[in-house]
Amino acid sequence: MATDVLVVGGGAAGIAAAVVAARSGCSVTLIDSSPTVGGQYYRGAEPPDSGSGLSYEALRRAFDELVDAARIDRRLHTYAYALERRDGGFLLRTRGDDRHRGDVGEVEASAVVIATGAFDRQLPFPGWTLPGVMSGGGAQALVKGSGVLPGQRIVVAGTGPFLLAVAHALISAGGNVAAVVEANDPLGLARHTRSVLPAAGKSADLARFLAALAKKRVPYLRRHRVRRATGNGRLESVTVSRVGDDWQAIPGTERLLECDALAIGYGFTAQTDLAGQVGARMRIGSDDGLAIEVDARQRTSVDGLLAAGETTGIGGVDLARMEGLIAGVAAVEHCGRRAALSERAIDRGMRDVVKLRGFADALHATFPVRDGWRDDVDDTTLVCRCEEVSAAKVRSAVNDLGARDARSVKLLTRAGMGWCQGRVCAPAVDGLCGFDSAASLIGGSYRPVAVPVPLGAIASDRMSP
Ligand SMILES: Cc1cc2nc3c(=O)[nH]c(=O)nc-3n(C[C@H](O)[C@H](O)[C@H](O)COP(=O)(O)OP(=O)(O)OC[C@H]3O[C@@H](n4cnc5c(N)ncnc54)[C@H](O)[C@@H]3O)c2cc1C
Repeated sequence: MATDVLVVGGGAAGIAAAVVAARSGCSVTLIDSSPTVGGQYYRGAEPPDSGSGLSYEALRRAFDELVDAARIDRRLHTYAYALERRDGGFLLRTRGDDRHRGDVGEVEASAVVIATGAFDRQLPFPGWTLPGVMSGGGAQALVKGSGVLPGQRIVVAGTGPFLLAVAHALISAGGNVAAVVEANDPLGLARHTRSVLPAAGKSADLARFLAALAKKRVPYLRRHRVRRATGNGRLESVTVSRVGDDWQAIPGTERLLECDALAIGYGFTAQTDLAGQVGARMRIGSDDGLAIEVDARQRTSVDGLLAAGETTGIGGVDLARMEGLIAGVAAVEHCGRRAALSERAIDRGMRDVVKLRGFADALHATFPVRDGWRDDVDDTTLVCRCEEVSAAKVRSAVNDLGARDARSVKLLTRAGMGWCQGRVCAPAVDGLCGFDSAASLIGGSYRPVAVPVPLGAIASDRMSP
């Protein structure tokens, strides 16, 4: 094999796995599509934490040293687009970043760690295509990656504690946050004390974010939902309403918030395509999204394939790092070596994973996505932005043409056929049509390519001797 351990994704999970594997004497290749490692959380940021040998700061320092010493082959600007089994190991096909899409390559490996993270989950509403409306992750990336604020007066909305992280990032960068609009009631977290207490550090983060909002007198509107965005050519205001348990708007509670930017998000979706291509078993996560099924050692159902971080279920950056460590250990063991991590550290890591997973499950139970969002999606609202498919067309595919699954809706309307391949619109199509997409994907129909790649590049790659 060209490399012992191949890590796909250089976020918190991938870096941890790569460091453990390289320190244990394995040859390691790590690929990431971005210009730097760090993933979504540490994008463009100085590693913030310090202390234990397992902190991100320490792992990142070790990672950089191992790269300098040529013990980790770090390949940036490189997308993984297809994974297959080959000679008892794996073959991963790659292409260059968007400026060099035709630059294809392959990596053979004995063990593969899938650490490709997640992307924002978006839901449509009238006006969501106006300039100024963006995902929460997009707004955070603007601030963290480029030091740019998305607007002069920003509303942060959707559901989940991530809204607080986004608002905090905006405030810290000097932004004017008009309100944080949370569709659920965070006080529901009090019902999960058994999961919350052991992860006290995570709760402290939330308290810190709330304190920052309070200091700047930013209203935190609980049980409120953005129902539409309006403006002449670009965002000028959003209409919010108080909502009931199912997110149905309560009549008479509408109000207008003036703003020129809206950062909105409803959780995340794990990137599981590569694992699906080699037949790894999936599960439905506690946020109702698809996740790669793993055992306590982060082993998937495919021998030699490990998964860590958001790919195994959305759980935040600390969980990703701990899962990465354990996946690194399992990859080393798969290659027939002993991991350079003490049994005590491994046990502690596995206990942390259980604790942090429990906390993540409590958050998902407190911040679910409820059906009421569908009420505001009128027939003219675009659902698939790539192919410009309206809600009317999607509904008609089901009501008039008899579509019974997302694939049929796609074939009838082109929703999900565009550049993003359904990454943005899939939850919306499923929600509007009443389909359970995660459950149907568990049966196993996966894209043979995980990211867009030119046909010519695939052809030349496959035909070369
Ligand atoms: C936009 C966004 C913002 C977030 N902000 C926060 C936050 O503030 N706080 C928090 O706790 N959590 C946040 N999260 C959740 C976050 O994903 C985790 O906390 C943490 O980053 C997970 O680490 P990870 O290693 O699993 O994945 P990531 O950090 O997402 O790393 C995955 C890496 O894989 C690479 N990759 C993906 N697919 C491919 C491919 N096909 N080929 C090559 N490389 C690939 C990506 O470029 C990325 O660098 C955010 C998530 C998103 C999507």
